[in-house]
Amino acid sequence: MTRDATVVTRRTPAQWAASEHIQRVAEMRGIHIPPVDETADDVEPIPAFINRGKWIAMCPEPMCFGQAEDVWRDWAYFLCMLCGNTAVGNRWRPVVFPANMDEIEAEIDLRPADDQNWHPTEPGLGGPTVYYASDDPTPFMTIEQRNRAFLAAQEADDASQD
Ligand SMILES: [Zn+2]
Repeated sequence: MTRDATVVTRRTPAQWAASEHIQRVAEMRGIHIPPVDETADDVEPIPAFINRGKWIAMCPEPMCFGQAEDVWRDWAYFLCMLCGNTAVGNRWRPVVFPANMDEIEAEIDLRPADDQNWHPTEPGLGGPTVYYASDDPTPFMTIEQRNRAFLAAQEADDASQD
């Protein structure tokens, strides 16, 4: 089963934010956990992807070096536990899940644990590395590199629309 933050943390977003462990981590790192109704709906959502059977998203801030966090399947927001999303006013950053996520999860569930990965840059549902052409560098990129490539392509897209 593809796991999301509800499964991994056994908590809803509000329970997670209020938990003693998270409050302690936040205090130690000097970040503020925003209430769940403080969402940055005015900024571009970041893509959710699956890494080893878990839905996660990655902080797009360069100084966070790809810090990834579990995300809730039914509540599409992300909080980076390194920067506290300060770049978007310390609010929860929106996450975009694929429209066909049920289909993706069903396929992912059939794969061995190491192959339970999916990223929006993959063609179709995506597939294990062996499905790619040998001259395509994509299969040799880590999921973090793919995510960066995806975000860079998105930025280039945005720039060309300006
Ligand atoms: Zn961050």
